Amino acid sequence: MTSLNPATTQFLSAQPLKLFVGGKWIEAQSGKTFETLDPGEGRVLAKVSAGDSADVDAAVAAAQEAFRKSGWATMPVNDRAVILHRLADLITKHQEILAQIESLDVGKPRGQAAAFDVPHAAQTLRYYADLAVHTRRREPIAVSGFDVRTLRVPYGVCGFIFPWNFPFLLIGWGVAPALAAGNTVVIKPAEDTPLSTLYFAKLAEEAGVPPGVINVVTGFGETAGAALARHPGLKRMSFTGSPEIGRLIAEACGRNLVPVKLELGGKGAAVVFDDVNVDAVAESLAAAVTLNAGQVCCTATRWLVHEKIRDAFVKKVVATLGAMKIGYGADPETNLGPVVSEKQRTRVLGYLDKGVKGGATLLLEGGRAEVKGHERGYYVKPALLTGDPGNVCAREEIFGPVAFLMPFNDEDKVIELVNSSPYGLANSVWSGNLERANRVAEKLVAGNSWINAHNLFAHGIPYGGCNLSGCGGGVLGPDTLSDYLRNQTVARPLA
Ligand code: ADP
Repeated sequence: MTSLNPATTQFLSAQPLKLFVGGKWIEAQSGKTFETLDPGEGRVLAKVSAGDSADVDAAVAAAQEAFRKSGWATMPVNDRAVILHRLADLITKHQEILAQIESLDVGKPRGQAAAFDVPHAAQTLRYYADLAVHTRRREPIAVSGFDVRTLRVPYGVCGFIFPWNFPFLLIGWGVAPALAAGNTVVIKPAEDTPLSTLYFAKLAEEAGVPPGVINVVTGFGETAGAALARHPGLKRMSFTGSPEIGRLIAEACGRNLVPVKLELGGKGAAVVFDDVNVDAVAESLAAAVTLNAGQVCCTATRWLVHEKIRDAFVKKVVATLGAMKIGYGADPETNLGPVVSEKQRTRVLGYLDKGVKGGATLLLEGGRAEVKGHERGYYVKPALLTGDPGNVCAREEIFGPVAFLMPFNDEDKVIELVNSSPYGLANSVWSGNLERANRVAEKLVAGNSWINAHNLFAHGIPYGGCNLSGCGGGVLGPDTLSDYLRNQTVARPLA
């Protein structure tokens, strides 16, 4: 059940796992290491080098050098695309190993990592490699009396700081467009989940990505992350994580006038009208709120259900959530793995406590879950609360398998309620009446409105937030490639 591919075991046994800087695998200059845990077992998975500002300096210097000298930025775009497709081929070839690593490090079901996280990253890489080939890099401009053209050139070194919920998938969303455009990158994965990013670097090396184009500095946020965010050698920065840290990153980048892309949290709503197949919607929302143990920025955590179907919905959803198979990621039966850390479990349980003390009622109790044979893992049962929209669990991002149900009976009021959140990442509308669904979807203020589905991702469909959920243009759309190309206009008077 838990058997690993020998290549996964070999990768994990080369401890401490090293940083990847300038095409070389090196230990942190301080010699320090940290431990990454298997959240399903609560045990140490691997020792990893703890990079800090000295290592970040070396990584940025290597990326600068590679930008100037490796030929990556200037090579014909189709040659670059060939290398990126080779990298995508290798990701596909190593899919089983990557899924095992991701499942061990994050806790997510192995099958989900193999079916979603890993192939999705490979597809995104292919999408941007191809899009770059079809993007005009030299645009003539017709202005009387001038010979003018605008070149679209890569920026230089781009920094990326990633969270722990989708470490591998987010490399595709974040880094792929930057690389396809010809930039070089320094990646700081989350300290809880550094492993698949290191494996990505290993595959990039094998694919023939020139040394220094991709650099990985593992380490903590306050040291490695902060050093990267404030580095004056960056030309662009991208951060995915909490709004609190996003603010710090934006402040640091602001000082250096480095443009920044922020993908932050959310408090997504699902608006369920009374003309739906209640059982089917209940099953879909139960699946949405438990995907990745609820550790998904855009998931639906506020369930606004028409009062006419409220009781039938609650009955079905409580039964569905209650029947979830909570278990270890490698168990093929598991559809709800552990949360990523003890800290995260404490946070989720703390919210349930605060929510109830604040007047909410538990429709499904939630709480700590014990999994036989994995007693030290960080398992949490799904929970469903109901109560006032002002309740802390209805307002704040919990990042666990917890939903908050609120009945409604008026279209305008429910739109107002959804839009009262300071976040603006993704919501969904569920109705048999497509005219109504489209009308409401357009009025919800967020980067994404989904109809009769929640958590819809595909390369080519822009994804991103507004308000507290982020800024800087989002990811995954065709425009994201343009975010990594700057304009340079060359003009000459003809007279
Ligand atoms: P979470 O609360 O979900 O762990 P964070 O926003 O704290 O999310 O972390 C997301 C990423 O930001 C991680 O890679 C983390 O190491 C990094 N990080 C945390 N604090 C800082 C900081 N002060 N400066 C830069 N990066 C940070």
